[in-house]
Amino acid sequence: MEDSIIIREDAIDSLLSHALRSAKAHGKEVIGWLLGFFNEDGVCVSESVPCTRYRKQARFGAEADPTLEAEVASTYPRNVGIVGLYHSHPFAMGFEGGHFRRISSLDDMFHSKTDDSMLKSRSSRRKNYLSIVTNGIDFSCFVMKRSSKQIEPELVGQIPYKSALQSYRSEFTIEMERKVSEVDVGDVIGGASRELMDHVRKKLKEDGPSVSKGTINRRYRNSRRNVSSKSRDNMLRISRENDSIRSEAHITLSSAVYTAKEDEKEIDSAMREEILDNIAYLLWKLSSSKLPDMKSGWTTAEVHLGNIEIDETGSLPKKRFQTPERGITIKRS
Ligand SMILES: [Zn+2]
Repeated sequence: MEDSIIIREDAIDSLLSHALRSAKAHGKEVIGWLLGFFNEDGVCVSESVPCTRYRKQARFGAEADPTLEAEVASTYPRNVGIVGLYHSHPFAMGFEGGHFRRISSLDDMFHSKTDDSMLKSRSSRRKNYLSIVTNGIDFSCFVMKRSSKQIEPELVGQIPYKSALQSYRSEFTIEMERKVSEVDVGDVIGGASRELMDHVRKKLKEDGPSVSKGTINRRYRNSRRNVSSKSRDNMLRISRENDSIRSEAHITLSSAVYTAKEDEKEIDSAMREEILDNIAYLLWKLSSSKLPDMKSGWTTAEVHLGNIEIDETGSLPKKRFQTPERGITIKRS
């Protein structure tokens, strides 16, 4: 049986208009990503997003800024996200008699050798990874078999991911406490971030999950001590006590994974990775903000990390970063 390749019409419309807009404006090739999910039967594409930062972009060939793809992928929960790529071949199109149209009889909807090798490397990780080529008016869709093969996807108005994928949720809590010898508040925050990641990794490895259908509940508590009434607010707290410095981390977050296959082991490992991803993301956001540089004159520092929530209102579940109301609060002595 052939694998099923289903694409939402809106995803096609938006990639066609992206390619056409740019072909008219400057005649350069564009790139974008196909977003959706893989399932037992094949693949579903619900959305397409344009590349907004290029390493290079010409009429023949374009390359996306390599950090952008990771950014796009990080806004979706595990098992949802990038399932293919699209790019345009604008070279047979142009203005003629005041109209933008095909000006050459050249076949522009082919998959080039370069396109093939890109698809081949990506398909090695994921069967049914898609590649769409467009001139802004038509498109053709390819998958990698022994060589690239053009296929006819089924176009649909809606892809209800909630009936195709089961969601699993997990409440994760971790608290950590340690004494440190650094004095610069920025260094302590950096050290606490690294330690927190190690801690989370260790806890996720050691503790077995408790899985119940539909949800996974995990609770990890490193410190039994009841630390603070604000412990639901994700944060690092650094405090100076006599001649030692204490750093604490309080993290509670709700993570979700979506999967078409009810495989406990797979769900469990996906959830571990999702929790790690989310905490790493919060810490990455922190590291890209400016940390204070104070060796003396401070007593406590509260570093609010924000949160990650899942938005299920769109055509795919999406992760939204909640910016903390206050970033870093330092009390001076
Ligand atoms: Zn190409």
